[in-house]
Amino acid sequence: MSATDKEFIALDWLYQEIILDHYKRPRNFGTLESANTVLEEENPYCGDRIVVQIKTDGERITDIRFSGRGCAISQASASMMTERVKGMSLEEALKFAEDFREMMRGEKPFPPEGELEDLDALRGVREFPVRIKCATLAWDLLQRSLAHLLASKNGGDLK
Ligand code: ZN
Repeated sequence: MSATDKEFIALDWLYQEIILDHYKRPRNFGTLESANTVLEEENPYCGDRIVVQIKTDGERITDIRFSGRGCAISQASASMMTERVKGMSLEEALKFAEDFREMMRGEKPFPPEGELEDLDALRGVREFPVRIKCATLAWDLLQRSLAHLLASKNGGDLK
């Protein structure tokens, strides 16, 4: 058993189930035709790799996909992220990404249990500092993609 598996097993059983469900049946997995942004990042500590593609009408995230490989936490977090932000306005999604990254880094408290739905399952990951990057990888990409989209929007030139 690797150190990673041991940490994972220390997570609450219910949270494990939710994470494994997203890992085995990732939501919004794949690629998009004519995405407005495509960004990719790796987490060298764990070997995770994620690609996030976003399609927007200039105001909202009309579609979002991710692909990649890596540990269950990184892939499940990406799956949950796409589910959560699809349909949000670009500003709203950016704010949410910033808040979530701060929550994972312990700079901001998580809201009462249940409010974040599946994302609640990731709160236990904060106990394992080396795995926090796994959980925030997809959110880092989301934040960078949105910053890029909003800059293009405010410049009046969306691709
Ligand atoms: Zn990982």
